[in-house]
Amino acid sequence: MKIKAFSSFSLCAAMIISAGSGCGAKPSDTTPEAVSRTVFAMDTYMSIKCYGGGEAALDAAEERIRSLEGTLSVTAENSDVSRINSNAGKPVEVSADTLAILGKAVDAGERTGGALDVTAYPLVREWGFTTGEYKVPSQEELAGLMKNVDFRRITVEGSSVSLGSGQALDLGALAKGYTGDEVVKTLRENGAEAGIISLGGNVQSFGKKPGASEWTVAVRDPFSPEKDMCTLNIGEKAVVTSGNYERFFTGEDGKTYWHIIDPADGCPADNGVISATIIGDSGLDCDALSTAMFVAGTEKAAEIWRSDPYFDMILVTDTGKIYYTGGISGFRNMSGMEAEVLSVD
Ligand code: FAD
Ligand code: MG
Repeated sequence: MKIKAFSSFSLCAAMIISAGSGCGAKPSDTTPEAVSRTVFAMDTYMSIKCYGGGEAALDAAEERIRSLEGTLSVTAENSDVSRINSNAGKPVEVSADTLAILGKAVDAGERTGGALDVTAYPLVREWGFTTGEYKVPSQEELAGLMKNVDFRRITVEGSSVSLGSGQALDLGALAKGYTGDEVVKTLRENGAEAGIISLGGNVQSFGKKPGASEWTVAVRDPFSPEKDMCTLNIGEKAVVTSGNYERFFTGEDGKTYWHIIDPADGCPADNGVISATIIGDSGLDCDALSTAMFVAGTEKAAEIWRSDPYFDMILVTDTGKIYYTGGISGFRNMSGMEAEVLSVD
């Protein structure tokens, strides 16, 4: 089957515009020395920049990333996730990291009416997104696989996890967010006072940026991912985007199929949203919500946000309109698309 595939690990959904000092705001003599590193893990480039802590802080952060990759990868044979999947129906002892992510996955699944469902993995695999063998499955194949998609059948007892028989899960929708939180924690524990990281487009900052200004982050234009759509300023926050241009293939029918699946029909989510960015305090929470809001579509996403607006959000529709929430600092639209503020009522 002739299929054109794209896995854009180098095209980050969000990116850091100003990691150093801003215009007219020079770091003082007491600013700790900046160190930075790029790591390739979880099939993406991860950049880390911090002030204070030096190479030792970067080493500790890199070690934490590698360890989480080994625990959370759906393809590594002995990871927690692989052991859970190969023992579906039976309890499996897992790490505190896996438990923390699964807890959030179930919570976000409930809160978004199943838009986020980590047991959608057999569908993701059938479309070829984890194997690279891309294909458009038949309706029968999808219907068969969907019978086992239901995160409510995941059981957690103490530190053991079991799936319903026939189920399999994948934490790819939120594992990078958790990794971001852990990298920030590790850098801090190792002497870093401030910094900014980008884990394949999951941007996260901590501490006070040297100089007076905030960190500036750009979000890609889903219609031209090589261009910035907008910029925003953040203090100590996570900015996480799910976009239809990150991992996709073109089928024989000429249609584009992307890696975020709607558990309601087993197909790439096509509810009008082509990019969903969440800005909040926790990388894990933002990552869970970015995938869920992409699936939910504009109206449902706005409804979910209004029911508890503790985070900010930028949605881009397939008709070329931006919706953003009013709490975003320094929002600057460079795209030419119409942008409308979402209000809480
Ligand atoms: P997000 O929107 O955050 O997540 C989308 C991903 O979530 C999809 O790719 C799918 O895996 C899953 N998903 C899709 N729909 C749903 C849904 N409705 N509910 C819940 N989950 C859904 N990629 C490789 O090609 N090779 C690797 O070896 C590899 N190793 C990895 C190891 C780890 C520990 C992690 C976290 C990721 C790894 N990846 C690897 C990447 C992974 O397969 C996903 O592509 C990536 O996590 C997607 O992140 P995102 O930010 O692009 O999209
Ligand atoms: Mg996500």
